[in-house]
Amino acid sequence: MSYEGKVALVTGGSSGIGLGIAKELASLGAKVIITGRQDAKLDAAVKEIGGATKGIKADVSDLEDLDTLYADIKAEYATLDILVANAGFGILAPLGAITEEQYDSVFDTNLKGVIFTVQKALPLMASGSAVVLIGSTASIQPGGSMSVYGATKAGLRNLARSWIEDIRGTGIRINVVSPGPIKTQSLHDYFPDDKREEIMAYLETRSTVGRLGKPEDIAKAVAFLASEDAGYINGVELIVDGGASQV
Ligand code: NDP
Repeated sequence: MSYEGKVALVTGGSSGIGLGIAKELASLGAKVIITGRQDAKLDAAVKEIGGATKGIKADVSDLEDLDTLYADIKAEYATLDILVANAGFGILAPLGAITEEQYDSVFDTNLKGVIFTVQKALPLMASGSAVVLIGSTASIQPGGSMSVYGATKAGLRNLARSWIEDIRGTGIRINVVSPGPIKTQSLHDYFPDDKREEIMAYLETRSTVGRLGKPEDIAKAVAFLASEDAGYINGVELIVDGGASQV
């Protein structure tokens, strides 16, 4: 599998899973562009990824930022071959305690952000290009307090299923990769201090391969789905969670 000469954009590529994906695509030869909202994080990630990587500050929930991002990509690279819509986050809030601010922030990033990230990229994408949306197993198994987050990730599955019909005939494929719990700073920070250890231990036992996931596990799945080897795979949600949600 080679990405030599390909241009790949990974939103939220400055840490965690997105950084893992950016590293994998760069190691396969792609020219990688990463986005995020913080300059310092972007600079550090660009250095870590190496090669011809470029960091562009852009908030996916801000449509003007997206316009500037794609104008920059068009000016420098002319086309975009791979788009990984990864930027996203979750909140914990049980029914009865969900605030409007939480709802707006999660939906703005995880759904509005993805919709316009993809829609505005399409004019740069030719036949043979691929889009991968980063979902979550919360789309099928959110558990308590994760309804708002889970709803956005379930939404991504339906976006992909509808979009492949909308763009039928363009030669662009769209799939979803849904990770289970992946060892990242954000997963660590997600749980309250007094429950973290217990929850992490439980999550580890849920995986049937005996460990939590790593960003590299997701990166390998994304690299496959975005490659020509996956040319006949379209509109699927590939769950990468060590089997946890299947048992
Ligand atoms: P991280 O918090 O480590 O990384 C998130 C990345 O997205 C950072 O680069 C962050 O940079 C960027 N980001 C966040 N909000 C925005 C925004 N509005 N616009 C642009 N960039 C943004 O999270 P993870 O790596 O853990 O998560 C990545 C994706 O994977 C998310 O979609 C998440 O829902 C999904 N996921 C994660 C799981 C896990 O266990 N970690 C499990 C299942 C799914 P900055 O803050 O500087 O903007």
